[in-house]
Amino acid sequence: MLMRDKLFIGGQWVAPSAKETIDVHSAGTGEVMGKVPAGTERDIDAAVAAAHAALEGWSRTPAEKRAEYLQKISDGLKARAEELAKTIAQEVGMPIKLAGRIQAGLPIANFANYAKIAREFKFEERVGNSLVVKEPVGVVGAITPWNYPLHQIALKVAPALAAGCTVVLKPSEIAPFNAFILAEVVAAAGLPKGVFNLVTGFGPVVGEALVKHPKVDMISFTGSTRAGKRISEVAAQQVKRVALELGGKSASVVLEDADLAAAVKGTVNGCFLNSGQTCTALTRMLVPAAKYEEAAKLAAEAAKGFTLGDPLAETTRLGPLSSQMQLERVRSYIKKGVDEGAELLAGGADAPEGVPGGYFVKPTIFGKVKNSMTIAQEEIFGPVLSIIPYKDEEEAVKIANDSPYGLAGAVWSKDDAHAQTVARRIRAGQIDVNGGAFNMNAPFGGFKQSGHGREAGVYGLEEFLELKSLQLKG
Ligand code: NAD
Repeated sequence: MLMRDKLFIGGQWVAPSAKETIDVHSAGTGEVMGKVPAGTERDIDAAVAAAHAALEGWSRTPAEKRAEYLQKISDGLKARAEELAKTIAQEVGMPIKLAGRIQAGLPIANFANYAKIAREFKFEERVGNSLVVKEPVGVVGAITPWNYPLHQIALKVAPALAAGCTVVLKPSEIAPFNAFILAEVVAAAGLPKGVFNLVTGFGPVVGEALVKHPKVDMISFTGSTRAGKRISEVAAQQVKRVALELGGKSASVVLEDADLAAAVKGTVNGCFLNSGQTCTALTRMLVPAAKYEEAAKLAAEAAKGFTLGDPLAETTRLGPLSSQMQLERVRSYIKKGVDEGAELLAGGADAPEGVPGGYFVKPTIFGKVKNSMTIAQEEIFGPVLSIIPYKDEEEAVKIANDSPYGLAGAVWSKDDAHAQTVARRIRAGQIDVNGGAFNMNAPFGGFKQSGHGREAGVYGLEEFLELKSLQLKG
């Protein structure tokens, strides 16, 4: 059992103000794997006071020095990479091999990348007779989800620290142990006290206390559109800056001239990564009506390759979902798909056989889906792909954009220029062209109800800066 009974506030491990704890379940077994404190508003008050007290000193620490600390954090995480991968594989359910590469690898890379960016970034520039200085926004409240828990933390904490902000982190109550490892690494790196603080607890309690706190200057949130709307409402009372990375329902547009086999394979992989619990998951595959039968066959075949199993086993390709709640939610969406008349090509809502006792769902493919169906409009957050036939390119673009979301997408064509033309017409923040690789320096974020603001690279740093003009005489 992983037991954590302290919070990290003001550079020290301190007892929480209340005795209540939160059970954390292993995704692969469904059993309690440990407990963390259920923090309260008092804990948030203490953490914000520490972050506020540290702000002046940290914001005036040279960027070069801040970069040294960030590099130390990256090195510290690297030294614990195996432990991180195992912890997150248990919390989230991602197969261990992938968890090592993605869940542990990306945060290590991002802290190092922000060390580099902090060193190179121009924190001031001359515009005519003005000196424009880029100052940290202040105390940042970071609220994060469970699906890529440490990656999402790193995309907030690393650029905020690089910018000179101090941070109070409220990680997901479903996958919080990785955040404790980060706090230990931060402590070992010797960051000045109060620059980074960790408070665990439930969203509506500690999350909201953080959003409401008058000494918090900005909230950076990643999570559901539902919680993002609530956070915006609460923050608006203080005209507080909010960055929101929310949900998605991304379309993979397979054009007439695409390599169908490669496009289907890429889409199924992009849909099922992390058991579909990926905000950019390609959950709607748009195919020319004339190629529908072939695409359906290829997708159903590809689904068979996703063997379910224990996330800690090296051979597992598809892990469980992260929680009982997710399991029920995803199964109810699959039932809804059947009820609304979509064709079930693979998987289904019934429990899979031969898997351990965790939150497993069958990799599921629906065919002949209409974009108006619930499974094509709402974010399912499970391994469920909807194949939607279209008659021509105009209709494909229309369907891709007929969504309240606009986070990501993909376009496939043998002609790169053709693919790019279509990609430019899709209203979403990140479009993969013919399976183009993930780029950690490219801006990441949404159009429409997928949120606003951008994370990653220099764009992610700029989120945490205020601009000030000094009007000079000479
Ligand atoms: P969630 O919104 O339930 O929770 C996210 C975080 O917000 C948690 O720490 C939670 O405790 C907190 N929270 C909940 N209600 C709150 C409130 N009223 N005030 C303050 N904090 C509150 O989301 P989740 O289930 O953990 O994550 C899944 C969602 O996250 C999906 O919708 C997914 O698409 C989205 N997501 C988006 C991105 C992105 O970058 N766009 C990345 C990953 C996940």
